[in-house]
Amino acid sequence: MVYKRKKYHYGDTHLKKKWRTKRRTKDLDEIDEDLKVNNSEKLLNQEVDFDKPGSAQHYCLHCARYFISDNALQDHFKTKVHKRRLKALELEPYTVEESERAAGFGNWKTPIKRKIETQPLKSDKEDLESSSKKMKIDDDEL
Ligand SMILES: [Zn+2]
Repeated sequence: MVYKRKKYHYGDTHLKKKWRTKRRTKDLDEIDEDLKVNNSEKLLNQEVDFDKPGSAQHYCLHCARYFISDNALQDHFKTKVHKRRLKALELEPYTVEESERAAGFGNWKTPIKRKIETQPLKSDKEDLESSSKKMKIDDDEL
């Protein structure tokens, strides 16, 4: 594959894109809220909604995006956008407390870095369930 990068000027492309609102999704701090266990369960197991791509059944938590099929979702996990997003989410979101600390109230502490991992796959869960069922059957036979 011949690929010559056509980007000679730093910051020339993404500035415009960043401010477009057509494909705008959630901000990082909103996604951080979604990553909490009770919210993420809800988002990963959404009801069928025909207005959303893929009837809202294939959702990437970290990018706040819908995909049309499980394959598309799997492919997305391997992309640069997704990995970049995981990296961006590693740093704790900015809070009111942090701004107060910066203004001289309380003690300064550096924002915590966390390890963010891709959400568990639906198919993995199903595999686990089916294998545990098989185990049960084996136990019965014994
Ligand atoms: Zn993603």
